[in-house]
Parts: sequence; structure tokens; C-alpha cells
Amino acid sequence: MLLKGFLVAFALVGLVQAASLSQDERIRYDNFSVFKVRYETQEQRSRLRSLVEEQNNFKHWGAIKDELHLMVSPGVLSQFKTELQRANLSAEVMISNVQELIDSEKEADSRASADESFGWKKYSTLAEIYAWLDGILAAYPTVTEEFIVGQSYEGRTIRGIKISYKSGNPGVLIESNIHANEWIASATATWLINEFLTSDDVLVRQMVETHDWYIVPVLNVDGFVYSHEKDRMWRKTRQPSADSSCIGVDPNRNFDVRWMESDGASSNPCDWNYGGPHALSEPEVQAMTDLVISLKDKINVMLAFHSYSQVLLSPYGHSSVEFPPNYDDLMAVAKAYADAVAKLPYDTVFQYGSVGGLLYPATGATIDLTYQEGIEITYTVEFRDTGHYGFILPPAHIIPNSEEALAGIMALLEKTEELGYMKSKKKL
Ligand SMILES: [Zn+2]
Repeated sequence: MLLKGFLVAFALVGLVQAASLSQDERIRYDNFSVFKVRYETQEQRSRLRSLVEEQNNFKHWGAIKDELHLMVSPGVLSQFKTELQRANLSAEVMISNVQELIDSEKEADSRASADESFGWKKYSTLAEIYAWLDGILAAYPTVTEEFIVGQSYEGRTIRGIKISYKSGNPGVLIESNIHANEWIASATATWLINEFLTSDDVLVRQMVETHDWYIVPVLNVDGFVYSHEKDRMWRKTRQPSADSSCIGVDPNRNFDVRWMESDGASSNPCDWNYGGPHALSEPEVQAMTDLVISLKDKINVMLAFHSYSQVLLSPYGHSSVEFPPNYDDLMAVAKAYADAVAKLPYDTVFQYGSVGGLLYPATGATIDLTYQEGIEITYTVEFRDTGHYGFILPPAHIIPNSEEALAGIMALLEKTEELGYMKSKKKL
């Protein structure tokens, strides 16, 4: 009852306060705040979700178990607080002013740009990443090779790099930045590419040289460029909708696997989790699907890099009670990753579970496609943090986060091998 009152009150507010534009036409988030809202029942959760669906003033940022993170525009802040109290939902401020975080990230990026080299002290743009990739391909011609995933809606090339020291290795596919605003994903993917080619650590060398790596540093290229140039919080693709003025689709809800089933995506074109007008409506998602199908016989492990929450999520996305046949193995491998990260001196704790079991239904994701195509060890890896900075993770975290990814992946591959998943698939 209390919740009902809470929703009605919001519906009556009816105030749409859009984020404002700055002089250079970047979208600003002055005094937008992010709240952690704890809920106890799935009903409360779905009511919070419908609040997001109904009003542009609320954006769903992220979630960890029993907790939703909502960005609230300043015009509805006082009503939000009042109604939370009335509904007996507990919430705490996670970020008081989103724009301040964006500004400090930008300052750190421009300070780091002053020394000109491609480093991991700042978040790089797509142009910088591609120029750096050209340099890597030129510098390591015998062990690297470019592959083209496809073209984006706006006509950009989605590029990938294969790293292979000998033929016949088991394969690892890494997809990164399918969600545009999760900049730590491509920062970590590029750091790993560099480490794989330059590290002189014996164990790293052994891991790198006994696997074939297929890495796509930025899949959602249009959204990524838009997130750098116009809207730091942009998540989706950039294809306009035929039914709405809202642009873009959540590409990680657009794969043709149980698309839109089980409340696993939104049918509202304005929602961050919009599943699209039909499965595979986004050219980037079609291109990634084609890549997975063309490589599936060579790939034993697939990882999709995301932020934030510090979790490893296995299939399935559609159900909280149905699990893949090798779920116990998936959890043993995820535990190896989490344990390896825990051994580093950063006090970073990773949880693990299936998408549907640990979080909530999310369908049409890459990992459900890769699993369906026979890649049995596959995860969404949600990097730092658990909700202090969320998507706007300061660049000082790039290297520690990347070190955690390296240690985690080394342990994950070792456990995968131990459980017998690294055999050549063609011989099976
Ligand atoms: Zn994501």
C-alpha cells in the first residue's frame, strides 16, 4: 500500500527535467544524484523498475543484490526523499552530484593527455584507441593480426585484434564496451593487450602463449564516441527508433537468445535496457553474432567486460531457478577468479552467480549467445566498483582494475583447463 502511494505521487509530479546542455553541447548532470535503494521483495524491485520506465527523471544505474542504484534529477529530489520515507524503503546517497565526478574525471584525463603517450592514466577516445592499435599491430606483426567485426550504424569500423604465438591453442574471446559508458572496460582490455605482448613475467608469458586471444576493445563504437563527445552517461547504440524520439537500443539485450522473454529487457525505447524493435535490430549486435558463430569452434572461453558491481555472471539470464548444465563448473571457475583477485593488495571482493540467480532477469545478452553456441565457459565480468563511483570510475583505478583482471583471468584459465574445457573442440 505504501508503495502504491509512492508511485502515484511520482506519477502526479509529472515534471520532466532533462539534463541541460553546456556551451560545447555536452549534456550536463549538475546536481543529479545517485541513490542506493534497498528493497526486500521482488515486488518492490519491479515497482522501482516501473518508476524508471515511467519517468525520465529516474535512471537505473546498476544493481547488486537487494539494492538498486537510481540516478535522480534535481527537480524531483525532494519528492523522491519524501516518498521513500513514506514507502518505508531505505536509501542512501551514493553520488551527490554526478557532474562533479564527470568534471574531475575530465580534469584527470586532460592532465594525463599532457604527456601525450597512450597510457592508462586516462580514459582514451575511440580515435586514440584505434591509433594505438595500429601501433601495436605494426610493432608485433608476427603474433598479432587485425580482424574486422563489422560496421556500426553510423558507419564506424568495429575492430578486433588476434594475438597468437602458435597455432592450435585454445581460444579466448573478449568483448568489451558493448555498453558505451563503461569506460573501464576498454581501458582494461587495452591494458591487457599491452601486457600480453610486453610482460616478462614467466607465468603471464606462459598463459598468453598457450592461448589464442580474440579481443574486441570497443564493440559499441557509436555509443562510445557519443559518450566521449556528448553524454558521459550514454549506454546504448545510436540507431534512431521508428516509434519514439528516444535513440538507441541496449545492445546487451538485443541478441537473439530468449529476446525480451521473462521481463529480461524493456520494451520502452527511452529505457536504458530497451531490447530493440526486434532481436538483432542493431548492426553491432548482428556483427558480434556473426563473429561468435564464425569463431565458435576455436573458442573455449568467452568474457564480456562491463562495469560496475564486481561480479562474475554466468548464463542464464532468463531465470532465477534454471541453471546451465555445467553450472557447478562455471561457479568453480568464477571462484578461482574471485580468489585470485582477493590475493592482490586492493581488498577487492568479487561475487559470482548466474545473471538470473544473482541479480535479476536480463535476456538477449552476449553470454547467453556464446553459451548457446557451445562456448561453455562464459561470463559477464562486471569490474570495479560496488557503487562508490559507479560508471564514472576515476582513471587512477584503471591500472589496479587491470591487474585484478589479469590475475583473475590467469586463475580462471587454469581452472578451466583443470576441469577439461580446453580441449580442441574440433576433435570432440
Ligand atoms: Zn554493461
